[in-house]
Amino acid sequence: MSKVILVLCDALRDDAAKQYMGYLEHLVETRQATRYTCVGELPSMSRPMYETVHTGVVSSEHGVTHNNVVRRSVVPNIFELARAAGQVTAAAAYSWFSELYNHAPYDIVMDREVDDPALAIQHGRFYQEYPYPDIEVFAAAGSLVAKFQPDYLLIHPMSCDTFGEEYGGLSAEYRRNVVVQDQALAALIPAVKLLGYHVLVTGDHGMDDQPGAHHGGTLPSHRLVPFYHVPPQGNGRGNTGERVTHLQIAPTVCHLLGIEAAATMRAPRIGL
Ligand SMILES: [Zn+2]
Repeated sequence: MSKVILVLCDALRDDAAKQYMGYLEHLVETRQATRYTCVGELPSMSRPMYETVHTGVVSSEHGVTHNNVVRRSVVPNIFELARAAGQVTAAAAYSWFSELYNHAPYDIVMDREVDDPALAIQHGRFYQEYPYPDIEVFAAAGSLVAKFQPDYLLIHPMSCDTFGEEYGGLSAEYRRNVVVQDQALAALIPAVKLLGYHVLVTGDHGMDDQPGAHHGGTLPSHRLVPFYHVPPQGNGRGNTGERVTHLQIAPTVCHLLGIEAAATMRAPRIGL
């Protein structure tokens, strides 16, 4: 079994990652990482895809079909499977993750910082208001690693979504934030590799070119996100040019964690 950090960069387009994430692409170029393009599930919206990524099932099956479905997940998911296997779970993430896996509706005081082995996300550091600086999300995640060495850690920065929706996916504001996230990853990855973590980096959906158009549809800009795997041993395969899907992420994480995937996670795992 291995430890896994999933970095779910909200609204990270595949093309923007390829062009602006120089550190991750360095790892790919030198075959210390493996790169895929991930064809996102639909609708290309946040809360439905948070749930799809963590359950491996489509939105019409898990029932979180739009952003305003405020309830806990009702299908097997990575957090609950890991906890049931006696592993330690953690997240530095937007409050909707607290609602999906810990407690709904979100209580901005009581749910913000939790350390409770009975919860699906045992160690949670959540934020509700945004823009919330991505660097603070990564710092909270680093603190969780230092304090608890979780087996599964979700890191969920959201400023690409904020800037993209306001200025568009081709804007300097959006792209500058892609660089900010890459630099945060450049600080995080060398440290956590030494601790034996596999790092996965992907997005929940993309971003329209135009300001105000957001995302939600089937355009490649809405749907295509990157999927990077950085193994702790440094033995990546470079840019595979292959396509994977959101449905494959949950069974892949379960495999890396050394736990059995749920029967509902029917997609084949990614051949890392
Ligand atoms: Zn999103």
